[in-house]
Amino acid sequence: MAIWNPWHGCHKISPGCAHCYVYRRDESIGKDASVVSKTGDYNLPLRRNRQGQYKLTPEDGETYACMTSDFFLEDADAWRSDCWDMIRERKDLSFHIITKRIDRFQVNLPPDWGDGWDNVTICSTCENQDRSDYRLPILLELPIKHRKVISEPMLEEINIEKYLQSGKIERVICGGESGPNARPCDFRWVQELRRQCVRTGVPFTFKLTGAVFVKGGRTYHIERKDQMLQARKSGYSYIPGTGSAETIKYQVPDRQQLIAGLSKSEFRSRFRLSEQDKAYVTEKGMEQIACHAEDFIRERLAPENPEHDGKQTPMRGHPVFVAQHATACCCRSCLEKWHHIPAGKTLDKQERDYIKDVLMGWIESQMRT
Ligand code: SF4
Ligand SMILES: [Zn+2]
Repeated sequence: MAIWNPWHGCHKISPGCAHCYVYRRDESIGKDASVVSKTGDYNLPLRRNRQGQYKLTPEDGETYACMTSDFFLEDADAWRSDCWDMIRERKDLSFHIITKRIDRFQVNLPPDWGDGWDNVTICSTCENQDRSDYRLPILLELPIKHRKVISEPMLEEINIEKYLQSGKIERVICGGESGPNARPCDFRWVQELRRQCVRTGVPFTFKLTGAVFVKGGRTYHIERKDQMLQARKSGYSYIPGTGSAETIKYQVPDRQQLIAGLSKSEFRSRFRLSEQDKAYVTEKGMEQIACHAEDFIRERLAPENPEHDGKQTPMRGHPVFVAQHATACCCRSCLEKWHHIPAGKTLDKQERDYIKDVLMGWIESQMRT
């Protein structure tokens, strides 16, 4: 990865900016980060070494532009055309531009931009729901060839599934906040965003935990050096169809605790087998019902990304369906939230048997009432 900072300095415009590292770093050396000026690296993409070769080469990897500012900042309007010229010139490099100002994208856009350039990826930051709902419709409408969403620092749970469904977003990246005074990042938000990516088939990167990470209701303070490492080790990044979720380590809940938790849920504890359901179980016998459960699990829950996930289990019509809702085995979201079985992985025999066990246990208990 290469970094090209043609100018330095920025202005805070959104909640994600509160603890901006550019400000933090500049303050530490007595510099005013709100003063925007060109840097000595302004023309880095065109700079050559003594042998006359470009200093930046495709071997350096992606070139990230404006990491200490924002490419679409007002102060830089007069300089941006030059930068577009350099980007046009260096078609061999892949430029990534991360912005909180997607609404200024069209200011000084090159006349030959057309429907976008192949070597430019625009990454829109979405730190909360409000900014997602403002920026993503703009990102999707603009003529851009490659789009990514970056939720970093992730400040709350966000739902961007309807934007992901467009098929125009190539990747979602998320992470917590670093530095002193970092705001907490809850692992449940990460999981929720990841499930949206799984359902829509969009690659997902869990980049870093941030300094204050909440998991299972506990708060962890994580050192800078471990934040990326721990995110990577969690295995929660997802690439569709690669079995990437196989490495996730998890433990299903203790059965007694699960039952206690379910009984406390107003929604789950409402489910009962009707007299008709019970008559059906008696008529078929438990063994036959267990076979039905196996079939439903295999067909509707076990695939990496089941069809109509979240809506695949009817509310009634079969005792197993009722058991699925009562025990939170109805869809992959509920399986992850209640049973910790990660979404985005094909369920193996052990997992399918566990679910069958939970379902049959509930049906048996209902038959006794
Ligand atoms: S847009 Fe980025 S660089 Fe500018 S103040 Fe906000 S966080 Fe900092
Ligand atoms: Zn569900």
